[in-house]
Amino acid sequence: MRCPFCTAVEDKVVDSRESAEGASIRRRRECLKCGKRFTTYEYIEEAPLMIIKRDGTRQRFDRERIKTGILKACEKRPVSVEKIDEIVDEIEREIQRKADREIKSTEIGNLVMEKLYTLDEVAYVRFASVYRRFKDVSHFMKELQKFLE
Ligand SMILES: [Zn+2]
Repeated sequence: MRCPFCTAVEDKVVDSRESAEGASIRRRRECLKCGKRFTTYEYIEEAPLMIIKRDGTRQRFDRERIKTGILKACEKRPVSVEKIDEIVDEIEREIQRKADREIKSTEIGNLVMEKLYTLDEVAYVRFASVYRRFKDVSHFMKELQKFLE
């Protein structure tokens, strides 16, 4: 590791400590040239979570992006940001459970709708109307009808 103080590359590890959850290892290092100490962290490299879009291209799963979509649907509705974070967490876990760590964007949309359906009907309808890209009002009304039943 390059020393952040003098840029020498020789150092020794003076302390190694695993984090409480075992997800990372923290190492204290001492530069052999200037003697100053610095810290490095070691993590397991995980394959990224991917989304397969409608046109077949793949995109990295982006929590913030999905959260923004849900936030928009929940605007001025009695749904807490905490609850929205929970939804995003659940979706993230859903993808992690998949062997290839990939999910279709349509599947994400369906998952979000499922959650919103039980949470807030206005947010559900808003999200569905954007997400399903209803071509005309009658299609939208039909979907709404299903929901009201
Ligand atoms: Zn140094």
